[in-house]
Amino acid sequence: MEIENKKAVVVGCGKTGRSTATFLARRGARVTVTDAAAASVFKDAAPGLSNLGVALEFGGHRPETFAGADMIIVSPGVSHTIAPIAAAQAAGTPVMGEIELAFRFITAPILAVTGTNGKSTVTLLAGEMLKASGLKVFVGGNLGTPLIDSVEADTPPDRIVAEISSFQLDTIDSFRPAVAVLLNITDDHLDRYPDAEAYARSKGKIFMNQGPADTAVINMADPVTRRIFDERCADAVHEPPRRFIYGMDADQEQPEGRKADGRAWISGRELWFETPEWGVFSVPRADIVLSGRHNLENICAAGLAVLAAGGTPEGVTAAVRGFTGLPHRVQHVDTVNGVQYIDDSKATNVDAAARALEAFDNPVVLIMGGRDKGGSYAPLKSRFAGRVRHLVVLGEAAAKIAAELKDAAPITRAATMDAAVLAAGAVAVSGDTVLLSPACSSFDMYESYARRGEDFARAVREMREMQEIKRGAS
Ligand code: ADP
Repeated sequence: MEIENKKAVVVGCGKTGRSTATFLARRGARVTVTDAAAASVFKDAAPGLSNLGVALEFGGHRPETFAGADMIIVSPGVSHTIAPIAAAQAAGTPVMGEIELAFRFITAPILAVTGTNGKSTVTLLAGEMLKASGLKVFVGGNLGTPLIDSVEADTPPDRIVAEISSFQLDTIDSFRPAVAVLLNITDDHLDRYPDAEAYARSKGKIFMNQGPADTAVINMADPVTRRIFDERCADAVHEPPRRFIYGMDADQEQPEGRKADGRAWISGRELWFETPEWGVFSVPRADIVLSGRHNLENICAAGLAVLAAGGTPEGVTAAVRGFTGLPHRVQHVDTVNGVQYIDDSKATNVDAAARALEAFDNPVVLIMGGRDKGGSYAPLKSRFAGRVRHLVVLGEAAAKIAAELKDAAPITRAATMDAAVLAAGAVAVSGDTVLLSPACSSFDMYESYARRGEDFARAVREMREMQEIKRGAS
């Protein structure tokens, strides 16, 4: 792909946009970065870009900026359907995302992970497994470092592990991962897609350019994922990739249809893997630190992908033993008066909260709420039965959640995180779990899910301190 002297417009000046602009400018393109936010937001980033000769446009996108562009690169946080991009595309200007641009320069095989939930966990774990197999690995994409940075790395990696969001898949064209993992597709981002089907199709694009030398890792327990992959295989023009499957019950035989090329399954004491490269081996469940059935599935997915990408059984096993998970994903915060407090702030949709609930056998006091994303909370009802002692609702979505789950558990409304933690602490008894698993985004009250999780941990800490002071005084 020719870059020198080309006129490139980068839309969005976040981390990815800045990396993209830097990459293009260093290769001799004439680059403009345009962002709808005010210049004051970018006062730290702007000088570095200007020094590279990048033109900057903040506070909106002028049509003139896009006129005569040779390429438009869209950041993942920006919709490619906004008017100036759509107009340029209609006029024949190539529009691509950073993933597509990076792919055209990356030479190492790519292991790409997408799905509604579990992407970050599986991406990091797969990265650890490949490293433990002795390979030099770049881990990035939607999580952490933009993929384009891997092209500029001092020593080129042997493998790239990339977390890819549906927004990033919307703007691919030739992107072709050697191994593609689709974890699950449940309702999310219905505020940004016309409907659930459009969101599912967007996820399915991860397999679009794969061929028989590539591998797809598919969750058989998720009907939408299965259907989307089956539709891809029905494509008469492009031959399908190899199929590695997981999510079947322990001794279940190969499901109907085409025989799988590799598989992973969960039995009472082990996780089993079977691939053409390595035959059959197992990882003892006793070695696994992560909790919840969903994490066993995540390990199956990561392990299969890594075995397909040149990792070893020893690498898979060693990484699983050392992997303690990411913050704000079913993370233990503290135990106060025999009640454990768990931060699952990253559960920003209903399925993630449902899976977190499944991870507990003891009674749960659940804290939910935040900014609603347009889906229904009713699917949680079946998970409440015999498990949720009390529900505390918080934030903008509080009334909607309370209305939809009113018969499922007693409900308290709280105005702040402190009030929510105190209310939960007041009804929980020793042996219970207080679980923050919001099923909503954090943007009504916080700048990110991480801030929300930190605020929960602070509120728990202050509640403990108050109790200790009271105890000391009495
Ligand atoms: P993502 O990057 O897709 O948001 P994370 O690994 O950050 O995924 O996890 C997001 C949320 O989803 C957390 O609350 C986590 O506990 C939950 N989760 C993780 N893996 C799964 C899975 N396989 N199915 C459903 N929920 C999951």
